[in-house]
Amino acid sequence: MPMNEAKLHYYLIIAGFAAAAVVFITLFFVSAPYGKHARRGWGPMVPNKLAWILMETPPPLFFVLYFFIGSVEINLPVILFFGMWQAHYVHRAFIYPFTIRNGHKKMPLVVMLMGMAFNIGNAYVNGRYLFTFSGGYPDTWLKDPRFIIGLILFVVGFIINRWADSVLRGLRRRGEKGYRIPRGGLFNRISCPNYFGEIIEWIGWAVATWSLAGLAFAVWTFANLVPRARSHHSWYHSHFPEYPPERNALIPWFW
Ligand code: NDP
Repeated sequence: MPMNEAKLHYYLIIAGFAAAAVVFITLFFVSAPYGKHARRGWGPMVPNKLAWILMETPPPLFFVLYFFIGSVEINLPVILFFGMWQAHYVHRAFIYPFTIRNGHKKMPLVVMLMGMAFNIGNAYVNGRYLFTFSGGYPDTWLKDPRFIIGLILFVVGFIINRWADSVLRGLRRRGEKGYRIPRGGLFNRISCPNYFGEIIEWIGWAVATWSLAGLAFAVWTFANLVPRARSHHSWYHSHFPEYPPERNALIPWFW
């Protein structure tokens, strides 16, 4: 194992935790300027569809690279981790961008570049850990409660996230740009089931891989999406006076 790279890998994870803390606090004061919170004054803009493709393409591609240059034994647990990651990211990079309505809307280049930088770093941290620095996972890992609970959380989060994003997509007809109140299922309890699902998904990943790299990803997702859910929730209240008052922002019956 190349020692210097292992150190770099570790320091990147620590930097990831520190950056997550900064992002968490900052996003409570400044909402990320895309989607509902898009506004002028953030420099050059990029069409949404293109931005999502460019931001989300590195994770699936780099995971293939790290898989093939990795040194661990390729057994079922390792293949399953590869599959879980790709199930999320192949959709996010190559399918999701083509399904969004109003893809001509723009997001600031700087937001796209920050998303891309995070994705490159995160794919590196998780890919290199899983396929090299972890030393591999024994076949018995499949029976370990950490793997079983983590996998269940991942799958549940994945389903919620995909379902919620498809409900949001269905709120607009082709060519429409406006917003409507989403209703049905978890939307009756919270404003952002897609973020709720995404957070559960990556908590599941952290538990299943039982790694600092996975934990850093879960913490980062939490730090990013909790303040954004709060921004979305207040946005709905300020734009729709009839917005259901019993709805929470992100966590059913709680917050
Ligand atoms: P949003 O919920 O803000 O928007 C998702 C899509 O639905 C957008 O195309 C949006 O259009 C549209 N939409 C949202 N609300 C409405 C509404 N009320 N009426 C009509 N259309 C609506 O999600 P994000 O764009 O922030 O995120 C997209 C995906 O990426 C999610 O699954 C999220 O979990 C994931 N993500 C993950 C992150 C992580 O750190 N792991 C970080 C950020 C996102 P418009 O763009 O016009 O608002």
